[in-house]
Amino acid sequence: MLANKIIMPIQSFQHLAVPSINGMNTYQPGKPIDELQRQLGIKHIVKLASNENPLGPSEHVKQVVRESMDDLSRYPDGNGFYLKRALAEKIGVDTAMVTLGNGSNDVLDVIARVFLTVGREAVYSEHAFVVYGLSTQAVGATARVAAAKNYGHDLQAMQALINEKTSVVFIANPNNPTGTWLEANELENFIQALPVHVMVVLDEAYGEYLDPSEAPKSIVFLKKYPNVIITRTFSKAYGLAGLRVGYALSQPGVADLLNRVRHPFNVNSLGLVAAQAALEDRDYIDKSRLLNGQGMQQLEQGFEQLGLNYIPSVANFITVELGEKAADVYQALLQKGVIVRPVAGYQLPHHLRVSIGLPNENATCLDALEKVLQGV
Ligand SMILES: *Cc1c(COP(=O)(O)O)cnc(C)c1O
Repeated sequence: MLANKIIMPIQSFQHLAVPSINGMNTYQPGKPIDELQRQLGIKHIVKLASNENPLGPSEHVKQVVRESMDDLSRYPDGNGFYLKRALAEKIGVDTAMVTLGNGSNDVLDVIARVFLTVGREAVYSEHAFVVYGLSTQAVGATARVAAAKNYGHDLQAMQALINEKTSVVFIANPNNPTGTWLEANELENFIQALPVHVMVVLDEAYGEYLDPSEAPKSIVFLKKYPNVIITRTFSKAYGLAGLRVGYALSQPGVADLLNRVRHPFNVNSLGLVAAQAALEDRDYIDKSRLLNGQGMQQLEQGFEQLGLNYIPSVANFITVELGEKAADVYQALLQKGVIVRPVAGYQLPHHLRVSIGLPNENATCLDALEKVLQGV
């Protein structure tokens, strides 16, 4: 027998929340495929909204995950021993420098909880990844946002905001949603000039998409500057967004602090084995990078043919300018079964971000965009 469903009147509990939470907005994820399928009653949806790897997970990863199913009743290894060891070996650091997270969002949040609180400040750029603001606000710290330059991080403007209250600087390199990139030299000059009480977080969620010869040189900074924390993820190029695995690289003393705050079993057992298997899959990253480069060219050319400006990007997405009608174009694309990402929440109300998909997905997106712009 079904119990009567309890229907609660909508009531605000804001007055009970700590003040910093009242000022926060909920993170807006890309619209899920299922939801649009239900709404439109159409099967074929192209989702280019969350910077996921369009190849899907590799066969090797799927195999390893299937083989781990029998252990689901067990807690995962809370220390992530094998994954940390594999990462440390691959990157060339000590395992004591690796901190695992439930996606790198979790790591960013842990960093905020360790280094930020009421009365302390975090510095980041306009148009930077929204989680920096959310993590900063959640712990009651103050955000100081530097104006961007040509959509990218303006390190001089960021430097000007640093004072004795600054505890963390967040730098997304490459940045999401602009796809802009800071050269190693510029970055090093900035880090070198930082006061010793400031931790600098280099978020490299898209680092794998750079040409290996230009790949982030930040590992060198880790050894030279004790206040550097690098964050990376298995959600983007490694194709494991659904399993939620990310990590930080830092001095062991910093990792020790992060580990105090990290939830004991923050990475699940399937995530641990899948990430380790993904690291062994060298071809997968090369293939992903190549596919991404081709898809980027396809979208750039398509936008040019449509007379649209875009922000040149080194990542696996591209942000295109649509002017006043950007929100309408987003809705019209949805109606055609194409999900892209509005970026008004990033102070880019006239742009939409498009993740690089498979060639046919990119083509479908461009085709739909052309029709929408013609008002069809
Ligand atoms: C996607 C993204 C992340 C990673 O998110 P996960 O929690 O690891 O899935 C981190 N930083 C930036 C800038 C991103 O775009």
